[in-house]
Amino acid sequence: DCVVYWMRMEDLRIRDNRALAQASAQAQLSGIPLVVLHVLSPQDFTAHDRSARRIDFTLRNLQVIRSELAKLDIPLNTVSHTPRTNIPAFVVELLQKWNASHLFANIEYEVDELRRDLAVCKLANERGKVACAFVHDKCIVAPGDVRTKEGRGYTVYSPFLRTWAPLLDKTASNHLQEAKSPTTNASSIRSHPVFGALFNVVVPDSVEGFSLEPEERERITICWHAGEDAAHEMLRQFLYTASRSSHLGAMDPLEDANEAVKDPGKHSRLGKYKDQRDRLDSDTTSRLSPYLAAGVISARACVREALVATGKKKVDTSRDTGVGRWIQELAWRDFYTHIVALFPRVSMGRPFQEKYADVRWETSEEHLQAWKDGRTGVPIVDAAMRQANEMGWMHNRGRMIAAMYLVKDLMIDWRLGEKYFMETLIDGDLASNNGGWQWSASTGVDPAPYFRIFNPYTQSQKGDPGGEYIRTFVPELAKVRGPEVHNPPPALADKLGYPRPLVDHKEARERAIRRYKNIGSK
Ligand code: FAD
Repeated sequence: DCVVYWMRMEDLRIRDNRALAQASAQAQLSGIPLVVLHVLSPQDFTAHDRSARRIDFTLRNLQVIRSELAKLDIPLNTVSHTPRTNIPAFVVELLQKWNASHLFANIEYEVDELRRDLAVCKLANERGKVACAFVHDKCIVAPGDVRTKEGRGYTVYSPFLRTWAPLLDKTASNHLQEAKSPTTNASSIRSHPVFGALFNVVVPDSVEGFSLEPEERERITICWHAGEDAAHEMLRQFLYTASRSSHLGAMDPLEDANEAVKDPGKHSRLGKYKDQRDRLDSDTTSRLSPYLAAGVISARACVREALVATGKKKVDTSRDTGVGRWIQELAWRDFYTHIVALFPRVSMGRPFQEKYADVRWETSEEHLQAWKDGRTGVPIVDAAMRQANEMGWMHNRGRMIAAMYLVKDLMIDWRLGEKYFMETLIDGDLASNNGGWQWSASTGVDPAPYFRIFNPYTQSQKGDPGGEYIRTFVPELAKVRGPEVHNPPPALADKLGYPRPLVDHKEARERAIRRYKNIGSK
């Protein structure tokens, strides 16, 4: 007999994990062991454009989790399974083999995953009489709980935030409450014929088709250490220390930490976030997205710790403070996840605003490839794309500039950009990525209006005034000082072996407006 917690690739942690906490409580109550299961599904990785970096990060985190759970005498059984359609039957067979009484898991809100979990519930009930509990954990406030007066979900962010924020302050609501850590199993589990053997199951080093070359693996591992301790250290540094302009590029983010500042609410990266978050030329943001996307740290913990650092008792979401602006970003994460849960069409490649399904796109393979490689001839776009290619991560402003450029300047279908980001980034998250792309393409909920098109050169001067970001990621321009770095004159570009711009921004802008306008008036 046992209770099973099914850990997914979005909740790779032991602390503050609701389904795990509930599974552990149930095991205690029933006086039976807790067993943890993780199913690797290579077909799902392919279907969802998962990057090899993300899969590698998943495996590295599972390795840490396996050894941490072993200290609690809890086995982690990591299994790989195909075909994906058969995962419900496979899981239920395991539950039956283990004579499990209960299955606990945190909810994944994407369509395929919801369908899978429904099938699991049905089969577990029919065949095994296993009680299943699927728990809200990913968001700070669960999808469906932020509602208009009419009881509907929001499709515009500002009113969403106005309803979302007060919910966090209600003491009865427990949105920010930390879930209990699991209790140790009886050590006798180690001599159990079935469960004891699970302690010998190792986490594989790679999944076929998703492995990294050794050199790349080393680089990505340095940028993104696995494990909850690393995630909490990243958070601590963001909350208590100042930005480092030297910390661009693929380097260890935890090394050479600055001293803690005296008044974190004002002087830490968090304190300065309100004014500096759009600056690309230093580490102004938390860089926690890979950890949040994989659930190595909970969003609840981020808010709780931010409140402690700034000495606030109530949740602050004002635009005028660093902490307020940062919690607003975590609210965007909730918002986009709610959109995926409430409007499944966005996770099926459909624009939220259906009328924009008919925008006429350009189909230049050459332009698309140049964008992917960071060779568009627009330095800020190229720096952002090369940052993604090198580190598996990109600054938010860089993502907005690069995405807007692909869609509006090159007039290439946003879904191709969305796919490339998923395949490249270590923090690929369907909801946030889709939300960001549909924002940039003006097709989404609360998007950038189609006629408000970023001028990448102006964006470059604002986000990277001294050109440090460009010089870090575009070596051809490493020696260019002064304003020319934002838009090198043709003769200089040629001399340095840097490409000329693929399109003229002004003309491209007019073309985009024309095409969107035609749709808008249909
Ligand atoms: P911080 O500024 O420190 O913010 C803290 C956390 O809040 C982030 O880690 C993230 O979880 C959340 N957050 C911040 N901004 C947003 C946002 N605009 N939307 C949703 N959540 C947000 N984020 C992902 O996590 N995965 C993606 O695949 C992803 N794709 C994107 C694609 C595009 C085109 C755009 C414009 C944005 C995308 N974002 C994505 C959102 C955002 O760019 C990243 O979350 C952010 O850059 C991560 O850096 P950080 O952790 O330092 O963020």
